[in-house]
Amino acid sequence: MNCVDNINGKTSVYAVIGCPVKHSFSPVIHNTLAKVLEHNLTYNTFEVKPEGLDAAILGAYELGIQGLNVTIPHKQEVMKCLCSIDDLAMQIGAVNTLKYTDKGYKGYNTDAYGLKACLDFQGIKLIDKTVVVIGAGGAARSACIMLAAQKVKKIFIVNRTIEKGNDISENIKKYYSTDVEVLTYEGLDTIDTIDVCIQTTSVGMSPNNEESPIVSSDFFEKVSVAVDIIFNPWKTAFLEDAEKMGCTTINGFDMLYFQAIKSYEIWNDIEIPYDIKTQVKEILELYYTKN
Ligand code: NAP
Repeated sequence: MNCVDNINGKTSVYAVIGCPVKHSFSPVIHNTLAKVLEHNLTYNTFEVKPEGLDAAILGAYELGIQGLNVTIPHKQEVMKCLCSIDDLAMQIGAVNTLKYTDKGYKGYNTDAYGLKACLDFQGIKLIDKTVVVIGAGGAARSACIMLAAQKVKKIFIVNRTIEKGNDISENIKKYYSTDVEVLTYEGLDTIDTIDVCIQTTSVGMSPNNEESPIVSSDFFEKVSVAVDIIFNPWKTAFLEDAEKMGCTTINGFDMLYFQAIKSYEIWNDIEIPYDIKTQVKEILELYYTKN
C-alpha cells in the first residue's frame, strides 16, 4: 500500500454546495482536471440546507475554501452573501461560482458560458439565429441572457406558466434590445423556422425517460439543431424525436462540462488549453456513460 501523496497540508479545497448534492458529477470533473493539470486541490460536495446558507458561506470563507459551485436551491439566495458579482451573473440574477478574494467571495455565473461553449464546440453560431427556449426556470434564464448577448435574431420562450416566460423576457429587455416573444406550448405552431431549439425544462429527466415537453415529433421538421440540457438519460425522448426527424442533437453533458471548465479557469486564473479540454471531456464522457 502506498501513502496518499497528492493531498497534503497545502491542498486547496473547493466544493459544490446544494441540497440535494451528493449525486453531483462535478467532483469527478474537477478532481480529474486537477489530476491532469497537476494542481494541488481537492473538490468535494457539501449539503447545505436553505436555513444554513449564510453560516455555510461565512464558515467556508473563514476556512479558506478557495472556490465553491452553488446549485439548487441556492443560486439566487447566495448573492446576498458575496462581496461582488460579475456583470453577466448580475444580468442573469443567479450565481453558480464563488471565488475567494481578500474582501469575500466574488460571484460568477458559468452556466451561460457552459451552454455557449457547448454550441461553439459543435461549430454552431448564434448570431442572427432564431432560437426557441423551452422552459422558463433558472436554466432558461441564464440561457436567454447568453443568447441575447450573442446577438441572436429572435428568442421565443415557450413555457407552461406564461408569467415566468414574461418575467425572463422583461429581464432580457433591461439589458438587450433582442426581439423576444413568449408563448405557451399551443403557440408553437406559429413559429416557421427554428435554427436552434433549447430544451431547459426538467421534463424527460430520469426516471421519467419517456416524457417530452414536445408532444408531436412533427415539430422537429422546422428545427435544425435540438439541444436538451438534461444528460440523464444521455438521450432524452426530446432528443430521440429530434434525431429521428433529422436534427443535429446535443445533450446537456457538454454544458455541464464547459461550465465546470469555466469555474476551474476562474478559480485558478488560467485558460485550459483546447487539447486538454477535449482530452478530459472524452475521458469523462466515457466514465459517465459507463457508470
Ligand atoms: P427550474 O427552475 O425548476 O425550472 C423548471 C422548468 O421546467 C420550468 O420551466 C417548468 O415550467 C418546467 N416544467 C417542470 N415540469 C413540467 C411539466 N410537467 N410540464 C411542462 N413544464 C414543466 O429548473 P432549472 O434549474 O431551470 O433546471 C431545469 C433542468 O435543467 C433540470 O433538469 C436540470 O437538471 C437541468 N440543468 C442542466 C444543466 C447542465 O449543465 N446541463 C444546468 C442547469 C440545469 P413551469 O414554469 O410552468 O413550472
